[in-house]
Amino acid sequence: MSYPVAKQHTGAIGLLSVPITEERPWVVFSACRDKDADLFFPETATQERRALAICATCPVQTECLEYALEADVRYGVWGGMSEKQRRRLARQIA
Ligand code: SF4
Repeated sequence: MSYPVAKQHTGAIGLLSVPITEERPWVVFSACRDKDADLFFPETATQERRALAICATCPVQTECLEYALEADVRYGVWGGMSEKQRRRLARQIA
């Protein structure tokens, strides 16, 4: 399975052909690295809750959220936040 760049996810190492870049070395420690990447682009509230529960256990949640905010990643669950939550946070810190 493959996603366009906008939908690539850190946890998709084992599922996608996304190289671990120098800008995201923390990816190897992510709690989602062996999870289904589709979960992190949820279509239902249940899927979103499952993704967020995985994020809650992730040792690199802060790094992931910082990356998502800096890169203005619009889609998916990143850094323990849904798309809507990240948009709200981005507005607050702008
Ligand atoms: S915070 Fe969530 S999306 Fe980010 S690397 Fe960790 S588990 Fe994956």
